[in-house]
Amino acid sequence: MKIGVLALQGDFAEHQVMLETLGAEVVQVRLPEHLNGLNGLIIPGGESTTIGKLATAYGLMEPLKIFGKTQAIWGTCAGAIFLAKDAHRPQPLLELMDIVIERNAFGRQVDSFEVDLNVPGLNAGEKDDLPFHAVFIRAPLIESVGKGVEVISTLEDGRIVAARQGKLLATSFHPELTRDNRFHRYFMELAK
Ligand code: GLN
Repeated sequence: MKIGVLALQGDFAEHQVMLETLGAEVVQVRLPEHLNGLNGLIIPGGESTTIGKLATAYGLMEPLKIFGKTQAIWGTCAGAIFLAKDAHRPQPLLELMDIVIERNAFGRQVDSFEVDLNVPGLNAGEKDDLPFHAVFIRAPLIESVGKGVEVISTLEDGRIVAARQGKLLATSFHPELTRDNRFHRYFMELAK
């Protein structure tokens, strides 16, 4: 299994470590040709505007859009914003997922928080249904999802923080910053 991490900006190294622990071959993607032969791609957290500007500068926008039509892509936090069709601001977006995103929905950096989430879909084949400890860092919310999009986790008040559309996955939070690899395993299943 060959998985790329978009390595333009943000915490791609943490994703790489998690994927390698799970036995995946990892490729750092900085140019269009690095997408060749990948089963899937992770777009990390960071700053979505910066990721979008760099992706534009390196000629990656079209290749990424084409890649996401057939292959699995998972965006965490800034990566989720980059996957969305609408983030209420003019910035380069892949527009692959039919989701509307609200950036910095919880406030500023100091309003970052951690919470235990219920993610029923993660627990197939697991011994128990432990909650997933989720780290939110100046995180976005998934404000609304289109018809073909499945909500896979919400906060207690119902606000959406994880969604899937076919092989495309978006999470507002950062599983790569925990020791729980269930989301990475879930994504590798999507990428198979
Ligand atoms: N606030 C960032 C953005 O809007 C996302 C933060 C993150 O990826 N942790 O792009």
